[in-house]
Amino acid sequence: MSRTLFENALVITADDRNTIYRSGWLLVEEDRIASLGEGRFEGDRTGITVVDAAGHALLPGIVDAHTHVAGSLFKGLLEDDPNGFYGFALPMEGQLTREDVYRLSLLGAWECMQAGITTVNEIYHYSLQVAQALDEIGIRAVVSQNIVDVDIGALRYNDYTRDAAKGESFLEENIRLIETYHGKDNGRITCRVGPHATDTVSMELAKKCVEVGQRYQVGFHTHVAQSRREVAQLKSSYGLTPVEYLRETGLLGDHLMAAHCIYVTPSDIRLLAESGTHLLHCTEGLGRDADFPPTREMFDAGVDIVLGTDWLTMDPWANMRFGIALNRQHGVDHATASALGMLRRSTIQPARALGLGDRIGSLEPNKQADLLLLDLTGPNLTPMFHDPVVTIVYNACRGDVTDVMVDGRFTVRHRRLQTMDAAEILHQGQKVAMEVYGRHLAALH
Ligand SMILES: [Zn+2]
Repeated sequence: MSRTLFENALVITADDRNTIYRSGWLLVEEDRIASLGEGRFEGDRTGITVVDAAGHALLPGIVDAHTHVAGSLFKGLLEDDPNGFYGFALPMEGQLTREDVYRLSLLGAWECMQAGITTVNEIYHYSLQVAQALDEIGIRAVVSQNIVDVDIGALRYNDYTRDAAKGESFLEENIRLIETYHGKDNGRITCRVGPHATDTVSMELAKKCVEVGQRYQVGFHTHVAQSRREVAQLKSSYGLTPVEYLRETGLLGDHLMAAHCIYVTPSDIRLLAESGTHLLHCTEGLGRDADFPPTREMFDAGVDIVLGTDWLTMDPWANMRFGIALNRQHGVDHATASALGMLRRSTIQPARALGLGDRIGSLEPNKQADLLLLDLTGPNLTPMFHDPVVTIVYNACRGDVTDVMVDGRFTVRHRRLQTMDAAEILHQGQKVAMEVYGRHLAALH
């Protein structure tokens, strides 16, 4: 049996009591956390690999509640373009091949892993290739196929012509994804059904998605009320708000991971809270796009709000800080929009939202060993007073993450990717990105 002992670490558990061990140890046996505590490990040391984690914090791996890892393709192209999403990104996605998505998923996943993200809740095109990449690189992932029955490239012209056959083929790919990957590798890869958004999936198709989810006993992942265009589309087609559409189709509920929910009414907020739907709050992207949901009302109503990075930049540390700053600016109190609050909304709370709360999200005996080591010796994390969570959340950078473990296996060790050739991933990522961009520009002329 493989046994790894972390010693002399500042252990931040994110358990229900937020236990911290100032000079702690944690023992990993095979894929699980066997035990942890304060001081010196007094158990049997035969055959044990010791990691001296002095000068480091040991935290649960970050659970990123909403990603399109291949979408890191668009970094540097969209951030300063107010019409970038519909006008540029969605048409350019039409140029992606399966092989491109595989290469770009490796690139985005490596960015996530380098930042200490151990689980991604992922939805994108060509999900079989996304799942293949995430499986190979060794991250934990919940994968959904992007299902639409419109031409997403035509949305910039407000053209919502439905194509039922296209919708069926994406749903078929989601079924193949579930049959191939759900529960794979010790349950490291699981799947959901991914109706893309309330405006890009007709009610008929959404109901079929619900049937498939029920048949395979998996949850759902979607985008909700992310633009005024979406709200207007739902109103003119069905006379419903996006959240009412979720209720009508059967998507609303504890089984749904719902990204954004920016343009919602007070009655929508009540529906989200009462149904136990999980709101995936992608704070850095919201700040960039100058869009924000009414989170003060949502927190007050008891909506389950968890953090995701979405795409372009997968930096959970910046995301927590945007989460604090933007929520406070929108009237959320300091205790709710706090360092501890955002850390929990990036670890144990999204784990529970995904139905994985008994397996990951905190450092506790019998959970899967998904964790990260953070270098505390830099000037940005010095001095450290009585509450290290505050110091870390306000000051840690993804470059401070030195080691990452998923399922008891080091995926990153001394800042180096252990599972694949990182230089090749970067080389291929850059090459593929330039090719896709070139094809997109050529198609415009
Ligand atoms: Zn998204």
